[in-house]
Amino acid sequence: MRGCKSPDIDFLIIGAGIIGLSTAYHIKSMSPGSRVVIVEKNPGPGMGDTSRSAAMFRVFFSSKTNMILAKSSVEYFEHVEKNIGWDLGIKYLGYLFLVDSKELENMKPALDEAERLGGSYRIIDRDSLKNQGFNVDVSTDPEASLMGLPDIEAGIYIPRAGTLDPDSLVRYYEHAFKALGGEILYNTEVKRIVLGPKNPLGIPGEPFAWQDIEAKGVETSSGYIEARSIVVAAGAYTRELLEPIGIDPIVNPKKRQIFVIRANTKGLTDLLNTKGYNAYNVLPFTILPRGVYIKPEIGEKSFWVGLSDNLGRPYGLEELKAEESFYRYSIHPVLTKYLPQFSQAYPDAMWAGYYDINPIDGQPVIFMIGNIEVVAGTSGSGIMKADAIGRIASALALGYDEVELYGGIRIRSDMFGLVRRYIDPEKLIL
Ligand SMILES: Cc1cc2nc3c(=O)[nH]c(=O)nc-3n(C[C@H](O)[C@H](O)[C@H](O)COP(=O)(O)OP(=O)(O)OC[C@H]3O[C@@H](n4cnc5c(N)ncnc54)[C@H](O)[C@@H]3O)c2cc1C
Repeated sequence: MRGCKSPDIDFLIIGAGIIGLSTAYHIKSMSPGSRVVIVEKNPGPGMGDTSRSAAMFRVFFSSKTNMILAKSSVEYFEHVEKNIGWDLGIKYLGYLFLVDSKELENMKPALDEAERLGGSYRIIDRDSLKNQGFNVDVSTDPEASLMGLPDIEAGIYIPRAGTLDPDSLVRYYEHAFKALGGEILYNTEVKRIVLGPKNPLGIPGEPFAWQDIEAKGVETSSGYIEARSIVVAAGAYTRELLEPIGIDPIVNPKKRQIFVIRANTKGLTDLLNTKGYNAYNVLPFTILPRGVYIKPEIGEKSFWVGLSDNLGRPYGLEELKAEESFYRYSIHPVLTKYLPQFSQAYPDAMWAGYYDINPIDGQPVIFMIGNIEVVAGTSGSGIMKADAIGRIASALALGYDEVELYGGIRIRSDMFGLVRRYIDPEKLIL
């Protein structure tokens, strides 16, 4: 395969993250006769942003698009666990959004919409939140009022939401893909996508602008690989691969961070062991005002804490190192106002990754230019939508107008295109 010149690869997929693996698996399932090869620079699957994820999911959105993508994917993951017997570590912890009175009022229509689409929620009152250790009245605190932090009016609890193990998920797709005869080249970095004329004339300097141009293959760290079609599923590195060949994928990477706090005091242990929400008797995935989120890690007896900062956080491939100062000065002040249990809590571990962001509507981009397909822009929710994205991308790559998602819903395969997009906006951005 290395330095391979024979054009017998039908689909060469760049990236063995969850999106590349799901796409490759579905292409191979829909077209068993095709030769499908994944090229990945890391030594194993899912070692990019997939492994840096909080790996949360929810089946509760106000937009039909989001609901379809998440519901069909999560139902497929449940099927993998229950019927195929592959443990994905799915845990229904629930989501708990803490909101002020204005937000609660504003969100009512979106909550009703999500319910209409099949989601469910319940309102948690202030007294219950207080009993669980939340400080709901912060406005009397001069510091909190200086920071503009609101009092909490209620919690919105979403039961059909939780977490899974992203490593098990990628291993599942890798296994299923290889079982169908799919091939993966690890430790192989794509340096560039090589273009050439569709109908070569043998003139030096081809391809010229007047010729029909297409991708011929990829130059990799292990030599040239020729392929009939190329699928770019390189997550945060999508732009880096596409810009040099004149494709603007509209998506850009932005750094995101997670900080691990051990539950090593009574206050934090009690908070971790909050009862009444889920079968594990732990705190649900909790989102405070200003977007600070807290994920309980049951086995580790810790919390993963994060915040997606936007204005001021540059786009681009900056150094992938978590900033302790970001926790200390941007997260900790908010966290401790609502949960004083964290006042002496600082991270034991931390890491950074990228969201591969589509700034226009926060939805994936799945489009073809000639024989190059782009599957990117998962915008911080790629794990929970991975199966649907893979099915849509594979149908588009195979030239089908429609695709059936897990559960039977049929949608257009070009609905996440660049020129036309068939997407309704999400109102439950919390
Ligand atoms: C901190 C954080 C928290 C998150 N939380 C959630 C969450 O709770 N729920 C959720 O659903 N999503 C979450 N996400 C988003 C989720 O992780 C991503 O949407 C998803 O992992 C994207 O998958 P991917 O396959 O596109 O990217 P990746 O997993 O990054 O895969 C891309 C692959 O391409 C490879 N690659 C890139 N360039 C090349 C090249 N030139 N040659 C060869 N290989 C190449 C990379 O090595 C990588 O393995 C989070 C992300 C972060 C960073």
